[in-house]
Amino acid sequence: MLSKVLIANRGEIALRIQRACRELGIATVAVYSEADAGARHVRLADQALCIGPAHPTRSYLNKEAILQAAQLCGADAIHPGYGFLSENAAFAQMIEDAGLVFVGPPASAIRTMGDKIAAKQAMLAAGVPCVPGSEGALPAEESALQELARSIGYPVIVKAAGGGGGKGMRVVHEPGQLAEAVALTREEARRAFGNPELYMEKFLQQPRHVEIQVLCDHHGNALWLGARDCSMQRRHQKVLEEAPAPGIAADLLAQVGERCVEACRKIGYRSAGTFEFLYEQGRFYFIEMNTRLQVEHPVTELTSGIDIVQAQLRIAGGAPLALRQQDIRCEGHAIECRINAEDPYSFMPSPGTISVWDLPGGNGVRVDSHAGVGYTVPPYYDSMIAKLIVHAPTRAEALARMRTALGEMRVEGVRTNLALHGELLEEAGFAAGGVNIHHLEHWLGQRNAS
Ligand code: ADP
Repeated sequence: MLSKVLIANRGEIALRIQRACRELGIATVAVYSEADAGARHVRLADQALCIGPAHPTRSYLNKEAILQAAQLCGADAIHPGYGFLSENAAFAQMIEDAGLVFVGPPASAIRTMGDKIAAKQAMLAAGVPCVPGSEGALPAEESALQELARSIGYPVIVKAAGGGGGKGMRVVHEPGQLAEAVALTREEARRAFGNPELYMEKFLQQPRHVEIQVLCDHHGNALWLGARDCSMQRRHQKVLEEAPAPGIAADLLAQVGERCVEACRKIGYRSAGTFEFLYEQGRFYFIEMNTRLQVEHPVTELTSGIDIVQAQLRIAGGAPLALRQQDIRCEGHAIECRINAEDPYSFMPSPGTISVWDLPGGNGVRVDSHAGVGYTVPPYYDSMIAKLIVHAPTRAEALARMRTALGEMRVEGVRTNLALHGELLEEAGFAAGGVNIHHLEHWLGQRNAS
């Protein structure tokens, strides 16, 4: 078992990881920027070290400072959380080379999955269903490009191999737009990701976003923990997530889940990970793998009863997974609302000091948050101030529980999207279940027009 873990993150996830460490008897080291000196994750840690100024490139993204802090404190492992350095293969490699444990997959797996062409090839080899498209990188000659797009069938989407965060992709509807779209995306990819390689896929028009959580140990054991639906997105940012994904046949899901764990064994994956799929007309299409803990992991924790962060820590310490696939169940329904300090209409971040902070409670209600009265939401980082998560026997009961919880929660001093979540839960399409990834933006467009 690990004895001391440095948590290279901030906010709710730093606290979430600290709690898991404490429950396992592992000492914790917090790192923080000057802007977070008074933060809860700093106060509650066994040890805390300032690693630099507020700007993330000089603190939470400063690999050398974080590794030095770990060595100085005698930590034996680093947990990266999500965002920041969590999917940075060079950081994972540095930690491995320094003889410390990276609480995540091996650097090599992060590297493979970070190159979307390589990731897709690995998935195809393991029998994971992918979006039909180019087999590797796009050719340079226009005639070969045209032939490829024709064989895939319009509309197609041109994507950067090194892309991320919804950037570096372009939808092409007809042959006349293809050459220019490829040239523009290539230039963008070169500048943003330092990798001009592109690939092409069929553009799916009405997909849902459905993802499968996996856990893998050092001993060749791999489990899938059911599916989450994260179709409620604005500008590719998830707003609300749920587990299980409504209306998906259990046998189809099990088939895809089995292919995912097979892929994990093939690539030597370890720790927690997520296979992201587009789901359309009863079929799954892999788009990418997230090689880290995700914001929405609690909905899977509530339905599976498995503490995913504790599992990550046990795996990192070398322990075999205690459960087998037949032990995994998916019980009831869980929903998570991301509560952000932002304007509910313009979505502009709303930093400031919180003056009122009333949290909901009761059976099946979980709040993961680092905020409270007097807490100042800094302008430098993500604007999420809480995750409100509920669990109930059925989806209808979970919706009712979330409505009640949202009604109890009150935040003043900063603007929040609480009212937006309240409206979404009353919206007929979402309440029916199984909306596609465009649903939220369409609804917002209609709301703003009326
Ligand atoms: P990123 O790593 O930048 O998030 P993804 O490959 O995960 O890139 O794609 C981000 C989003 O773009 C998806 O959630 C989906 O909304 C859209 N998208 C990507 N590929 C396709 C596709 N083949 N058809 C339709 N939409 C797509």
